[in-house]
Amino acid sequence: MDIIKKLKKMKVKRVFIQYPEGLKLRIQQISKKIESEGIETIICCEPTYGACDLRDEEAKRLGCDLILHIGHCDFGIKSKIPVVYWDYFFDVDPLPILKKEIKKLKKFRKIGLVTSLQFVKTIEKVKEYLENHGKEIYVNKSLKYLGQILGCDVRAAKKIEDDVDCFLCIGAGKFYGLGLLLGTDKPIFSLDLERGMIKDLNKLKRKTQKIIAWNKSCLEESKRIGILISWKKGQFKSPFKLKKKLEGEGKEVYILAMDEITPEKIEGLKLECLISLACPRIGIDDLNRYKIPVINFGSI
Ligand code: SF4
Repeated sequence: MDIIKKLKKMKVKRVFIQYPEGLKLRIQQISKKIESEGIETIICCEPTYGACDLRDEEAKRLGCDLILHIGHCDFGIKSKIPVVYWDYFFDVDPLPILKKEIKKLKKFRKIGLVTSLQFVKTIEKVKEYLENHGKEIYVNKSLKYLGQILGCDVRAAKKIEDDVDCFLCIGAGKFYGLGLLLGTDKPIFSLDLERGMIKDLNKLKRKTQKIIAWNKSCLEESKRIGILISWKKGQFKSPFKLKKKLEGEGKEVYILAMDEITPEKIEGLKLECLISLACPRIGIDDLNRYKIPVINFGSI
């Protein structure tokens, strides 16, 4: 593994490993491989959804001299110890799924392709297959790789939105595809390599957009507001200006800080509405889990 050569060259003694959930089945094997080269490892068992979550203070406290951040690209966050970002790719053949499922795209000729870091190697094969079947394909490079998007950065889609009839998001599950509703209004399909299908996300998109609009409309009437902030290094934004503004409108405001934001942590607090200043996916993916409206600051 090139990454182990890199760690050895850096004379690392103990590594703190952060990784996405999708790599859980492989993480023990990765850890043992690193240890077989004489480097100690500690596996971070707190969920790591992106490079916005950099646990340098925890790693340092545990005597680690480096963080190995697997499956995420550098977010530009300053760290107290060195960080190696490992662009971990999954090698999945999309052709059997495309052959079986391409009919679901028959209404669309111009297709925009996007994907997450793990599947960027698949994009060329998908592009070639679709072009050979009469489609016009658009792909943009806004992050490190062609077509790459993050859960909170869909610039690669935004830049080609006017050219395409729909988007096809290559990946596993609906997370990245649904994120496109943050910045585009075209129909969304996901090429789900895990489940072996092309899934139409448009019904879910419309339902989510309705909930987002309803939640926003609740803000004006709400008297008691909670501002959600996370102390994850890449998610923190100061809440005080927003608090002052809302108080100026006559509202009672509380700043609620936590690591990962979950509905259970605010249960029992007397609030009517929540505004999240942390990961913008909080006001998209988990809406059904909250008992009161939750709104992303970016959307108000
Ligand atoms: S802010 Fe949210 S969507 Fe963006 S990288 Fe972090 S966890 Fe992912």
